[in-house]
Amino acid sequence: MDQRLIEQLRGIVGVDNVACDEPMSRHTTFRVGGPADCFVTPGGVDELGAVLGACREAGERAFILGCGSNVLVADEGLRGVVVRIGPKMADVSIADDGAVVAQAGAMNSKVARAAQASGFAGYEFAAGIPGTIGGAAIMNAGAYGGELRDVATGVTCLDGAGRIVEIAAADADWGYRRSMMGDAGYIVLQVMLQLHPDEPSAIQDRMDDLSRKRNEKQPLDMPSAGSTFKRPEGHFAGKLIQDAGMRGYTVGGAQVSTKHAGFVVNLGDATAADVLQVIRDVQAAVFADSGIQLEPEVRLWGFE
Ligand SMILES: Cc1cc2nc3c(=O)[nH]c(=O)nc-3n(C[C@H](O)[C@H](O)[C@H](O)COP(=O)(O)OP(=O)(O)OC[C@H]3O[C@@H](n4cnc5c(N)ncnc54)[C@H](O)[C@@H]3O)c2cc1C
Repeated sequence: MDQRLIEQLRGIVGVDNVACDEPMSRHTTFRVGGPADCFVTPGGVDELGAVLGACREAGERAFILGCGSNVLVADEGLRGVVVRIGPKMADVSIADDGAVVAQAGAMNSKVARAAQASGFAGYEFAAGIPGTIGGAAIMNAGAYGGELRDVATGVTCLDGAGRIVEIAAADADWGYRRSMMGDAGYIVLQVMLQLHPDEPSAIQDRMDDLSRKRNEKQPLDMPSAGSTFKRPEGHFAGKLIQDAGMRGYTVGGAQVSTKHAGFVVNLGDATAADVLQVIRDVQAAVFADSGIQLEPEVRLWGFE
């Protein structure tokens, strides 16, 4: 990578917030992935805009990373700049009427906890989704009958030219694990929600109940990216995988979870190539067994 760009990025975000050859295994919940040429952590919207502008001018690709809970990064790593939107852009404010403004780097758990403490309900479903609200807006994250689009009123984004755009919920075109912002390559800066009043203890009870369900069903003690595949219409990916005899299927250090066949887990020493091989073999086995083509939900970075 061009040393001049690295110097420019250091000038924008400070030397401590630019790392070269940064292992992506440190920044993904799968705990796999080779080095990114450059890993930058902007401290706010202005720095983020300047970082992206510098990448654009230099012709370097920018990968926007939230919490890394839905990406699989190749062992060869990433050629370009990873821009992390995380704890430095994570303010959450809640108005008296339950209107929430959350910066994109705020973890879903933080937003849900803040809402609960203020006596506002509606975001409980996301409390256990281990990503940022920016990632949730891009993915239309959902669980246990709730989805981000149910409570979101709008998002503030940067478009490809670095302009701030306000997108109303009606224009976000949220679908199953997708959004207009994701398709257009927009960067989410903040997400607006409208929640409704409820007893904090009742909200907490619902969050505890969902957390119990997750713990019972999901292999939360092992690195993964959650459900590896999208749910095919009218089916459950985990059931199809189990029926195809792939529960426990292992390549190197990657395995179809024995607890929940919808998850591929890292047994400890998986490579990204192992994980990808499991994904491909599961797709082939399920197709042969049921004629259904599973599509990865997890985003694949650096494999092209
Ligand atoms: C144990 C476990 C359980 C899970 N359970 C669920 C679940 O119940 N429901 C569910 O929907 N998901 C689930 N997931 C998947 C994941 O947590 C969600 O997809 C989450 O919304 C991803 O957020 P993130 O911040 O980690 O995004 P990342 O993984 O960092 O990024 C995902 C995608 O969003 C983009 N992106 C991230 N932030 C921004 C931004 N600010 N602007 C523009 N693009 C951005 C990235 O470029 C990438 O394309 C689970 C994952 C794990 C590990």
